[in-house]
Amino acid sequence: MEKRISGTTGLFILLGSPVGHSGSPAMYNFSFQKQGLDYAYMAFDVKKEQMPQAIDALRLFKVRGSNVTMPCKSVAATLVDDLSPAAKIIGAINVIVNDNGKLTGHITDGIGFVRNLKENGVDVSGKKLVVLGAGGAATALQVQCALDGAKEISIFNRDDEFYKNAEKTKEKIGEAKPEVKVNVYTLDDQAKLKSEISQADILVNATVVGMKPLDGQSLVDKKYLRPDLVVADTVYNPLKTKLIEDAEDLGCTVAPGKGMLLWQGAAAYGLFTGKEMPTAEYQAYEK
Ligand code: NAD
Repeated sequence: MEKRISGTTGLFILLGSPVGHSGSPAMYNFSFQKQGLDYAYMAFDVKKEQMPQAIDALRLFKVRGSNVTMPCKSVAATLVDDLSPAAKIIGAINVIVNDNGKLTGHITDGIGFVRNLKENGVDVSGKKLVVLGAGGAATALQVQCALDGAKEISIFNRDDEFYKNAEKTKEKIGEAKPEVKVNVYTLDDQAKLKSEISQADILVNATVVGMKPLDGQSLVDKKYLRPDLVVADTVYNPLKTKLIEDAEDLGCTVAPGKGMLLWQGAAAYGLFTGKEMPTAEYQAYEK
């Protein structure tokens, strides 16, 4: 490392709180070194209210780019100079690219989700999806799937503070991609959930259910699944949720959340460096 960092090394950072557990510094620094790029990556614990200062610092120190994580993704979108089409619709970003002083915000969660499906042999184009969830991850992937040509998206959420997000997402997709049919239902309507899943190509869990401490739980009765249904999850801790285990048991094609995490990071790396991240090498190194 001491030989790699010099007076010309370009800096990339992670902003958010907490960031101590993040795997991003290891993944990006490994990739920079592997590809002989004169860059380094550091994580900074920054609270939401400190984001204006952090963005000023990013400009001052000519930081080349930044990832943004919870709880700073929405406020960051209001502080940059420009937004990608998906970020404009979603109103949140997880990547900032500093192009000679012009900061552009992107959101790669949905891109990572779609790529993870593709890596598992599934194309969202022309497909009907049932997506459980209306939070950050859900909104990002719903918008990206609409932009990437999904035919229909049925959103289910429990009647909590996130439910109105689903209504907003329906409205926003309606404006940007009117040909995509979006339906919003409450999770209480189990008969609807069952019938929507029976007509869907892809089922996605984008809620926190399945994630620790809700591991071992699933919002979907195993009886609603069938072998030709593709089942994806955004949860990556544990690596296999109960939903993914149930789906595997029935022989469904599955796309667990760890792949989405890897590919959203790889998409950011592409925006940062213009290069494909050495994901296979990193995965082998990580094991
Ligand atoms: P969020 O807080 O924005 O949204 C939470 C969602 O869970 C909402 O839809 C809420 O209604 C729902 N929910 C919460 N408790 C519930 C319950 N008991 N029953 C039913 N629904 C419930 O969270 P988020 O940032 O969207 O994250 C959701 C999951 O996706 C997390 O597990 C997170 O780690 C994961 N995630 C993964 C990636 C990835 O790259 N794989 C990226 C972002 C988020």
